[in-house]
Amino acid sequence: MNVCKSRVEKGLYWDEAWSLVSGCTPISEGCQNCSGRLSTRFNGRIRLNRDFLDKPLKKKKPTVYAIWNDLFHEDVPFEFIARAWEVMNNANQHTFMVLTKRPKRMKEFLSRLGWYTHDRETNPAEAVLDEGGKYTLPNVWLGVTAENQQRAEERIPILLQLPAAKRFVSVEPMLGPVDLTEVGHVGPKLDWVICGSKSGPNRRPAKIEWIRSLRNQCIYFGVPFFLKQSRRGSEKWRFSGRFTRLSGRTQR
Ligand code: SF4
Repeated sequence: MNVCKSRVEKGLYWDEAWSLVSGCTPISEGCQNCSGRLSTRFNGRIRLNRDFLDKPLKKKKPTVYAIWNDLFHEDVPFEFIARAWEVMNNANQHTFMVLTKRPKRMKEFLSRLGWYTHDRETNPAEAVLDEGGKYTLPNVWLGVTAENQQRAEERIPILLQLPAAKRFVSVEPMLGPVDLTEVGHVGPKLDWVICGSKSGPNRRPAKIEWIRSLRNQCIYFGVPFFLKQSRRGSEKWRFSGRFTRLSGRTQR
């Protein structure tokens, strides 16, 4: 996966958002201040952005697409998610990062993903809901948000069961310490941990000791760690190598 260096240095590890749904409803502590949630004000419903479905097919340049609006919200039909999977399959020059706070529904969807053996043109909905089975797209990364210990223990074990080319955990906004050893041996199955502290109005900043602990756990488990921010106030955090390193004048 290649994202231009200037974006990575700003903490942006994807190229473009692929907004397949608009609106959402909060499900856990990390949803406070979410723009997706706030956008439900216009009608109180989830809107499926069908017009955006073929966006990746129109772009030749390999691109990392982020699907941050929760595609696995209960009001998003599996038929629509399957259309997205079909696009990701056909636009295999791109990488897709699919993040959810609803991994149970993601698991349910994937367990029904026998649709590749069917005629999708004529009846994609039936194809999705028909035979079970597992199918992994090599260009699709699956991820869950784990903003605190409770959500880490709820969601990461489910993520580790899913068939995926790569699995990632987004600890953002980090609202408390996260102990991966309580989740199980994540090392071989987890490919990336992303950590971020919310900025802007009403932010709930992470403590540096939480971040350092998570970074150290990732080193122990051999899981690459990416810290989105390079500084917070007067604290300077430096990036280096495969693992993001915390260092600088105020943090050792
Ligand atoms: S699940 Fe995600 S998109 Fe939905 S309200 Fe929470 S943070 Fe926002």
